[in-house]
Amino acid sequence: MDENAVISVKDLTKRFGSFTAVDRISFEVRQGEIFGFLGANGAGKTTAIRMLCGLSRPTSGSGQVAGYDITSQPEEIKRRIGYMSQKFSLYEDLTVTENLTLFATIYGMDRKLTGPRIGEVSATLGMDGMMNTLARDIPVGWKQKLAFAATTIHRPEIVFLDEPTGGVDPLTRRKFWEIIYRASSEGMTVFVTTHYLDEAEYCNRISIMVDGHIEALDSPARLKKRYGAQTIDEVFRIVAKDARRGD
Ligand code: ATP
Repeated sequence: MDENAVISVKDLTKRFGSFTAVDRISFEVRQGEIFGFLGANGAGKTTAIRMLCGLSRPTSGSGQVAGYDITSQPEEIKRRIGYMSQKFSLYEDLTVTENLTLFATIYGMDRKLTGPRIGEVSATLGMDGMMNTLARDIPVGWKQKLAFAATTIHRPEIVFLDEPTGGVDPLTRRKFWEIIYRASSEGMTVFVTTHYLDEAEYCNRISIMVDGHIEALDSPARLKKRYGAQTIDEVFRIVAKDARRGD
């Protein structure tokens, strides 16, 4: 195992009855890396992420996240990660500050540290003018920022983002990626899924999942070279051409 690996899985598998949603996937992610976890609808990404976050028990295989075992130490893992799921939602009737305070409490942060940390997060994300606005009244791009801030308020070692930019416009997506870069440059490891293949180019490495398997894994540049493709979109089409699940 790479000594800088903060995620390491070997033959990780999840079956639902006779259906194998995730089929013996193996990979490592290094500290501070932006790792893109790609795949068509139904490929098994969310199922895999839930196992990595200690929310779902693997059927077989093994994995360590932030130095803890995903099967026997899920609670230790939950304290050290942030997870922005596809269904992540803010409390619309609370202000930005109240949302962040609530998430800090949920993550068990020391109350004395919460105020300064919220001040720091709002300054970094340029949210100062919005802190007393109700979440329901802020624009969608700000909601993404706020969701990210809430997910990382406790300074997790690793943040898992499951389609964080789904349904938002290209400029907002670009801005969200600036936040991802900043988090990574500060040492946070970012594990992200997306359906926007232009975003995959921003990742240090990407994996492409097809029908529960990882079919390709490398840097965007090396994958394009290997498949003789100009874009990751083209690589994806080649790798996933025989997919049975998905669109
Ligand atoms: P998407 O991009 O649409 O979110 P995904 O790659 O995240 O897709 P998963 O949500 O992990 O895919 O689903 C993988 C497969 O496992 C799908 O065929 C799905 O229907 C199936 N699946 C997921 N959860 C369950 C469950 N609890 N019981 C039975 N089948 C499930």
